[in-house]
Amino acid sequence: MPKDSPGDWNQALMELGATVCTPDSPSCGVCPLSKECVAFKKGLQDRLPLPEARRAPVPVRWTCLWIERDGKLLIWKRSEKERLLKNLWCLPEAQRVSAQPGRRLGAVSHSITHHALTVELHVASMEKDARCRRKRAGFPPARPRPPGLLALAQASAHRRRKTLDRFP
Ligand code: SF4
Repeated sequence: MPKDSPGDWNQALMELGATVCTPDSPSCGVCPLSKECVAFKKGLQDRLPLPEARRAPVPVRWTCLWIERDGKLLIWKRSEKERLLKNLWCLPEAQRVSAQPGRRLGAVSHSITHHALTVELHVASMEKDARCRRKRAGFPPARPRPPGLLALAQASAHRRRKTLDRFP
């Protein structure tokens, strides 16, 4: 790569990939790189690039809770260190809040990159004086919804209208 014009180099490579060395039909006969191209010399230009191996989906299961108190619903913002749905407002996961899952409301499946996420939703209750230790937690009104909840619970697994419609 020329040190004084790396941008031109990048631009030229992109142009070459878009117009001459296309994945489906490389035009080696008019290609300025054909003298140096190893794929062309070995006759492999029609077989490269190799298709990317599909990554097996990683199953992830969450149990989330629908906790209402005085007509308000507990939601919280996930940390930026989370593996999935970073920084999004969601219903709390059962293992992160001191409330026992009760009646099952339904389940939602959703793919996020190579993760196959399934969220089971249960009703739960918290003691009146129980405090949520989570810093970024809130109790917006549980009704009317879905608009209020949808605006806050950005996580797509939670914003599926079908599932929200099943809530009490
Ligand atoms: S010679 Fe090489 S770089 Fe040029 S079009 Fe053929 S495969 Fe692509």
